[in-house]
Amino acid sequence: MNIRQIRNATMVLNYAGKKFLIDPFLAKKGTYPPYPNTPNQDKRNPTVGLPVPVEEIIKVDAVIVTHLHPDHFDSAAIEILPKDIIIFAQSEIEAETIKKEGFQNVDSLTNISIFGEISLSKTDGKHGIGQIGEIMGEVSGVVFKHIDEKTLYIAGDTIWCSDVQDAINTYNPDVIIVNGGGAQFLQGDPIIMTKEDIHQTYMEAQQSTIIVSHMEAINHALLTRKELKRFIEGKGLSNNILVPDDGEIISF
Ligand SMILES: [Zn+2]
Repeated sequence: MNIRQIRNATMVLNYAGKKFLIDPFLAKKGTYPPYPNTPNQDKRNPTVGLPVPVEEIIKVDAVIVTHLHPDHFDSAAIEILPKDIIIFAQSEIEAETIKKEGFQNVDSLTNISIFGEISLSKTDGKHGIGQIGEIMGEVSGVVFKHIDEKTLYIAGDTIWCSDVQDAINTYNPDVIIVNGGGAQFLQGDPIIMTKEDIHQTYMEAQQSTIIVSHMEAINHALLTRKELKRFIEGKGLSNNILVPDDGEIISF
């Protein structure tokens, strides 16, 4: 497999001969206002551009949308993606919402478990704790398995929690992609992984390589790649926890 970090949680995955686009957030730099009630109100979203032409990004066999927040499926993606492209949503409700935008081949990961010869398993997560977590709503991840490939677990927009632990225990993944960035509102705790959460994920899955996505692309993501890499180096884990730049490809 190879995984190309595009921007934010958007990635292109080549796995067992199929190409997947994960969480398409395709707008040009600065298209949207900053999220309300968050730090860095002087920055518009996305805060950086796409590292490769959008036409290249969308040439895939299927799209996976882990949840419907606009930094994972935005109005630019709705406009740019071909309406007959195969899309997998986290639930039937979200599949219906995507269909209402005119997409014809949308299914839920709760219904399908095989694509080609690849097994796809939906996993759970928590997009924050307490009231903020409730407001943020349901999120998911997905595990890819194939006889000729290493097992890949994309955790999605979740903090470290028992759902992530359960997925590690159930699927024993070789590669885990987590969403870092430590995004947060002015009140409450982070809504995606902090550097401590990322380290905790590694500690519970020390045979796995951890890849950190969802960095430095939206106004309220406070953890920088530089700070995260320094933290990882300090733990001696630079070969175990990877922090790709936008556009970078990692192969296994
Ligand atoms: Zn997100």
